[in-house]
Amino acid sequence: MIRVRARVEGTVQGVGFRPFVHRLAGELDLSGWVLNDERGVLLEVEGEAGSVDSFIRRLAADAPPLAAVESVTAEELAATGDRGFAIVASERGGPADAPVSPDGATCDDCLRELFDPADRRYRYPFINCTNCGPRFTIVRGVPYDRPLTTMAGFEMCEACRAEYENPDDRRFHAQPNACPECGPSLSMPLPSAVDALRAGRIVAVKGLGGYHLACRCDDETAVASLRGRKHREDKPFALMAPDLEAARSLVDLTPAEEALLIGRARPIVVARRRPGAAAAGSVAPGSPDLGVMLPYTPLHHLLLHDVGRTLVMTSGNVSDEPIAYEDEDAVERLGGIADLFLMHDRPIHMRTDDSVVRGRVVLRRSRGYVPDSTALPVEAARPMLAYGAELKSTFCAAKGRRAWVSHHIGDLENWETLRSFRGGIAHFERLFSVEPEIVAHDLHPDYLSTKDALEREGVDHVGVQHHHAHLAACLAEHGEHGPAVGAIFDGTGYGPDRTIWGGELLVGGLAGFERVGWLWPVRLPGGARAIKEPWRMACAWLTAATEGDPAMPASLAGRVEPERWAQVAALSRGGPASPVTTSMGRLFDAVAALCGVRTAVNYEGQAAAELEGIADRSERGTYPVPLCSGEPPAPGGAPGLVLDTRETVLAILRDLSAGPALVSARFHNTVAASTAIACARVAAARGLDTVVLSGGVFQNRLLLERTVAALEDAGLRVLVPERLPPNDGGISYGQAAVAAALTAEGALPSTG
Ligand code: ZN
Ligand code: ZN
Ligand code: FE
Repeated sequence: MIRVRARVEGTVQGVGFRPFVHRLAGELDLSGWVLNDERGVLLEVEGEAGSVDSFIRRLAADAPPLAAVESVTAEELAATGDRGFAIVASERGGPADAPVSPDGATCDDCLRELFDPADRRYRYPFINCTNCGPRFTIVRGVPYDRPLTTMAGFEMCEACRAEYENPDDRRFHAQPNACPECGPSLSMPLPSAVDALRAGRIVAVKGLGGYHLACRCDDETAVASLRGRKHREDKPFALMAPDLEAARSLVDLTPAEEALLIGRARPIVVARRRPGAAAAGSVAPGSPDLGVMLPYTPLHHLLLHDVGRTLVMTSGNVSDEPIAYEDEDAVERLGGIADLFLMHDRPIHMRTDDSVVRGRVVLRRSRGYVPDSTALPVEAARPMLAYGAELKSTFCAAKGRRAWVSHHIGDLENWETLRSFRGGIAHFERLFSVEPEIVAHDLHPDYLSTKDALEREGVDHVGVQHHHAHLAACLAEHGEHGPAVGAIFDGTGYGPDRTIWGGELLVGGLAGFERVGWLWPVRLPGGARAIKEPWRMACAWLTAATEGDPAMPASLAGRVEPERWAQVAALSRGGPASPVTTSMGRLFDAVAALCGVRTAVNYEGQAAAELEGIADRSERGTYPVPLCSGEPPAPGGAPGLVLDTRETVLAILRDLSAGPALVSARFHNTVAASTAIACARVAAARGLDTVVLSGGVFQNRLLLERTVAALEDAGLRVLVPERLPPNDGGISYGQAAVAAALTAEGALPSTG
């Protein structure tokens, strides 16, 4: 007989871990107890040595579906001879450290009950159990227990309480457990919403992390009026299909994408639209893709089942505001958009958008993934908080080996988003009991996140260069320190030389970096306006390439006035209104404009997305890109490798008659090939074998795939972001990884 005390850490609360331990102990004939505490699960078991060993092994291997076991540590104690196995009540007090799990899609068992006329929860829109249901969005504090969730106001009926207290029941300690007798209810009979949707109306539906706006996706009038009322010009709307079969009829899916669609996180999966897909043109104008998800709450299942067709399910907001999640606010903000509100009385505590995945890349990490922690390869010796960037903002709390990257907050450009950002930070600090001593931030002095970070008193501040943060985030999520070569391509990032970076070759690791190469620098004519009007970038690139006064290309004739072209050409030659940039995102804009794809954008990244969309994927041709050694764009830095794409732009100009599909493909191939050549050259010179690809430009699937292939052909090892987005949503985690590494190296104080 032996006795062992074991501690289990990770996402192990609110996921049915204690009943699982109870069953496992029963099966192996072990005695002892289990409890939840602030660090996770603590237990003791006693029995035959072989059974105890097998018990410890199976703790992680057979854990329940929503659990994520990060570590199991065991120590041997003296046997006590006690009998039976007990689940002991939660211990309170001390610092809370036990992770809360992400919201999980309705499980198969609950679904069966939902549609079983004999079940007491038949068609109950809030059915859930230990293996599924709301978590992060309803949690107000830890330990995860009903009084600290938005279910606190609902008292369980006798039947629900019996399930809740029975360790053999699927609803043992399921905090949101409810039934039609005692739980939340809808604001109106479901058939009213179903009829309205079928008739082409727009309905605001209260979901898990906020309100959606729903309408039939095959009804052009409905979708177009939703666009008009929402003031959203072209940005694609997400769809919710009733089942996998319906999703397959809309988009081409790989087995991995199907697994995501039916998995517990249930992100929106962006995939190639199938010919004949029954979705109105204004669902995703200008895009060959559609974003599709499957129902993930019982209410969605009922709604989609009864409507019997795919719905548009887009965030309940106007234009770029954050998604509405509080009832009164939703009625006020969405009143002019929705014809009807389908609401319920279970409050949402944390606003959370749907997550978005495309190929192997997470474009937006939010509902279903947050707040799972991401490990840090270097221990954060002091608790820290990283404030992230500005667009697609997230923040990150970290201590020890764990980092909690927040849900997608949005673009920190208005008061509502900033409020959400600040509220989210305070919530994470409490939830994971992180009292930050180090605060990491971007170098851009005008980012609201930087300003907020610098206003925080009594902490050590560390500024992390934007592209270094991109590099570090990718290394760290793969558990690596570097050094590696990084090809970091994005739209805009503040360079220490006060120019705008965005097409950078770096050599570095978590603790530091050198800039060893860059895209040929051009002007951003008229500053921020050049980001909204890609034709300005075409003008800037042609000005750089011809070193003179470029004629307006035929592809822009009739779309840009000749006088404006002349003005922008003048701005492109220099001046204070036109900062210097090495941005790769802006080169994609320029090529999109040259191809006649888009001269002005309505949302960030639109021109590049559409350029990718039209590319002929069978084309393998390329344009020239001379690689030369050059002085940095601003005085002070070391010389480096320059991708001189001026020649590329001129070649494109000569090739426009080949048509945009071929030109786009050849341009993608060119960037992929020249990036691989440049990285291989740097890797050889520095004796490195690993290349990191990150930055928002690598949301481009075609570019990413071709660049990875070219690098692997050159014998290099390639790391790309997989768990976190390559866009600025991953910056906060990168900042935390850098701050942790700097602390470990003694570059930051290791005590407060
Ligand atoms: Zn369930
Ligand atoms: Zn009940
Ligand atoms: Fe970036």
